[in-house]
Order: sequence, then C-alpha cells, then structure tokens
Amino acid sequence: MRYLSTRGGMAPIDFADALVEGLAPDGGLVVPEEIPVFTGDELAGIAGAAYPEVAAVVLNRFVGHGVVGLDPAAIAEVAGAAYGPDRFDHADVVSLRPLDDGLVLCGLSHGPTLAFKDMAMQLVAGLLELVLGARGERMTVLGATSGDTGSSAEHALAGSAAVEVFMLSPLGRVTPFQAAQMFTITEPNIHNLVVRGVFDQCQDLVKQVTGDTAFKARHRIGAVNSINWGRVAAQAAYYLYASLRVASPGGVVSFAVPTGNFGNVYAGYIARRMGAPIHRLVVACNENDVLDEFLSTGRYRVRHPEEVVTTSSPSMDIAKASNLERFVYDLTGGDTGLVTDLFTGGSGFDLSSQSGWDAMAGARMVSGSSRHADRLATIRTVWQRCGVMVDPHTADGITVGRRFVENGVPMICLETAQPAKFAATIVEALGEAPPVPARWAGLLGLPQRYEVIDPTPQAVRDAISEASWTRSGGGRAG
Ligand SMILES: *Cc1c(COP(=O)(O)O)cnc(C)c1O
Repeated sequence: MRYLSTRGGMAPIDFADALVEGLAPDGGLVVPEEIPVFTGDELAGIAGAAYPEVAAVVLNRFVGHGVVGLDPAAIAEVAGAAYGPDRFDHADVVSLRPLDDGLVLCGLSHGPTLAFKDMAMQLVAGLLELVLGARGERMTVLGATSGDTGSSAEHALAGSAAVEVFMLSPLGRVTPFQAAQMFTITEPNIHNLVVRGVFDQCQDLVKQVTGDTAFKARHRIGAVNSINWGRVAAQAAYYLYASLRVASPGGVVSFAVPTGNFGNVYAGYIARRMGAPIHRLVVACNENDVLDEFLSTGRYRVRHPEEVVTTSSPSMDIAKASNLERFVYDLTGGDTGLVTDLFTGGSGFDLSSQSGWDAMAGARMVSGSSRHADRLATIRTVWQRCGVMVDPHTADGITVGRRFVENGVPMICLETAQPAKFAATIVEALGEAPPVPARWAGLLGLPQRYEVIDPTPQAVRDAISEASWTRSGGGRAG
C-alpha cells in the first residue's frame, strides 16, 4: 500500500515510513492511496475472530506487501502481545455491554492507562519497534499531551531500546491521576517535561522544535500523536469488531463517538468504507464545539487558544481538529489543490460553498454538543438505570448519541476512558469517588519524576540534547 499527502507534495511512501514520519513534509496528512475493502467472506471471518486477530487482519491490509519488518506473521505476533492479558484487563480486550434504549457501551479503556488511546498506542508502539529493529535505527518521539495521549504513549514505549520519549504537558492542568500515571514511570527512556503554560503552548513548542529541520534530523524526531496513520488504522479495527458483533444479520449499527481531534470518529468512517455495517456516525463534542459547527453548517472556524474552554471532559478541549483534513480530502475526491487552499493559513474555511459539501450527506455523520450539566446528568442516569459508571467523555458520547437513536439500529457508544481518571467530576455527579482498578491502587503515593521548563523552544531543545542518545554519537541501535 502506498501513502500520499493530502496536500499532494510528497512522493509515495510505504506504511513503515508513514508510521515513523507521522506528518507529510508539505504540512499535509498522510493518507493511503486507496481504502481496502473486505469481501463478505472476509467480514464473516472478522465477525468470529478474537480482537487481536481482527487488529492484525486490518493492519495487514493497510501495510500491504513487501514492507521491511512488517510481514503478516510479525504483525500477528505484535497484535497478540499488544492486546495480551498482561496489558488489557478484560478477556475480550474490547467489551460490549447493553445499556438502556438500544444503547450499547463499547469498552475501549481496559488497557494499561485506562483510556481508549491504548487501543492504538499499544499496537503502534509494537509496529514501531519492528520497523526500527529491522532497519537498525532509533528515534525520538516528541509529543504534547493534555493527559491521556502522553500516558498512553509513555506506557506503550517505556523500556524501548529504540525510542526515546519526550512528552510536554501543561503545569497543573492534567488531573492528579493522569499526572501520576506519567510521572511515576521509572524507565530512563521516558522524559516528562512539564511546561509553565497551557496545552496549546505545549503543542506549539512541538511544532517549533520539529520545524527546526536540522535539529529534527539530528535527533530523528517523529510523532505518535493523533495524526499518525498507524493510529487511525489500529482504531478502525474496533469499529469492525464491534459493528459485526452487535449488528443483526444483514443489519447495521450506529456509533456515538466523543470527539476532540476527529481521530477516533475518522477511524469509524474508514471502517465503514472497508465494509463495516455502520449506518450513522454521531460526533459528540463538549463545549468546544468546532466540529459540531462544521458538520451542521460547513463552516470550520479554528478557535483562538484563549477561546478554548476548560471543561470537565478535558481530552476534548481543542481549538482545531487535526484529523479533519483527511476527511475533507476524502469529501473533495482527493482534490489536493483545494485541500491545500483550505488548510493553509489554518484559521478555517467555509466548505458549504465548495465542491465536497454535497458529499457530506453521503458521509452520514451527524453531530451535537454536550455541556457540563448534560454530562453530570448522563453519568447519574447511566449509573442509576444501568449500574454502570461512565467517565465524563463517554457521558458526552451517550448524551449526544441518545438524540440520534433510531428504531432497530443499535447505538454503540464508545467508552473512551475509565472514571478513575476523572474522579472530581464523578464525585460531583454521584457524590462518591470512582473505584480505582487494582493495578493502579497506591499510584498517587508513588515518587514522581519530571522536569519543569519554561515555554520556550530552547528549553525543549536543551532537554532533548542533554538526555538523548544522540549525545553519545548514536543514531543506530546498539
Ligand atoms: C483523546 C480522547 C478523546 C478524543 O479523541 P479524538 O481522537 O481526539 O477525537 C475523547 N475522550 C478521551 C477520554 C480521550 O482521551
């Protein structure tokens, strides 16, 4: 399978390069030349398979043939380990549990850091190790996190001999549980840089540091953030798995997806194109409703950092939706010129006056937003009626999903985190603290390791230069 840029300025690369590079050099996002489609027989096979097998089958199609380090046997082995019982706390990896009113809760947060990010990150980390191992290379992962991505990436890559991780997080802005998940990691290849600033500044710092091409090349800096195609591919697997298990023969399901960067719901859109029996994709936003506005009007207005509201579903507090560019690329039939026009400058556009807006109807994507009071009410009703405690993000999905329930079409609500990560909001909703899974008991009492830095690119560069393997003249794994 060959991969291109949504902006047309990149010679085709293979899956392994897409995985290591992350972003295309022309500023666009990496997309496959075509989306693989499963036959009816293949879908029947997926419907009966255990989760790690489904993930491997999906990944194989996105990798294609002849990619160094990534043959089907190796991928199957990595998937088996990524979703193994020592990492996922549920025998099925992904759980499916009926709620009320035709809703089904799809549990995606049984992994090491209790958020759905583990579903992709565990697999991507394993694939990265394979590729780097086959090439005898090392790399530096530089990322920014508002909480979940960072801990998921760190836990997936902790102890890796080939990858050094530098993760920026905003001082005092992640929950105590999320901070402890990151800062208690003892493996020396994990570096927590706590920035005196907000999340958007962390993200800007990553951009500034990677924009220094000489520095980027010297340290072989790559990203495993939500724009990495490997993550989209890995996430498509649970849409196939859940839809094929829940849909009645010949029937369809809809999905309600708590959305921030549009990565998760975009994977659902891809899964449908691969043949998953999906009717509607419900995009659930919180108070930061950039995407709800876009999907209902065609107008995409990137928010200024100071317009971003801090909410009780913080992993969806975004100013722009990084993966939207891929969706617009698809809607416009791969019109790289138009995508370049629309996304250069980065302040937004109005698609309703462009070719591509008509295609929106066929995308069967609907949207809504949920506020603090909605999420508290949903956490309460789901607890009272079904005996299930959901986290604030999952509650946003359920809140909006309920608005779009149709007769005879199960609404699968994606559970994106466990309530233990967002204890304060659960206490506010239910008057009691969420249970902490046994393996994380005592977390808040463990010693923490991190470095506080000023919000300047130089501070980040210094931290990388001091700690990195490149200091000792490396570049190849020893
Ligand atoms: C990251 C995250 C989201 C948003 O996912 P996107 O892929 O950015 O749309 C929602 N909920 C939780 C708990 C998350 O960690």
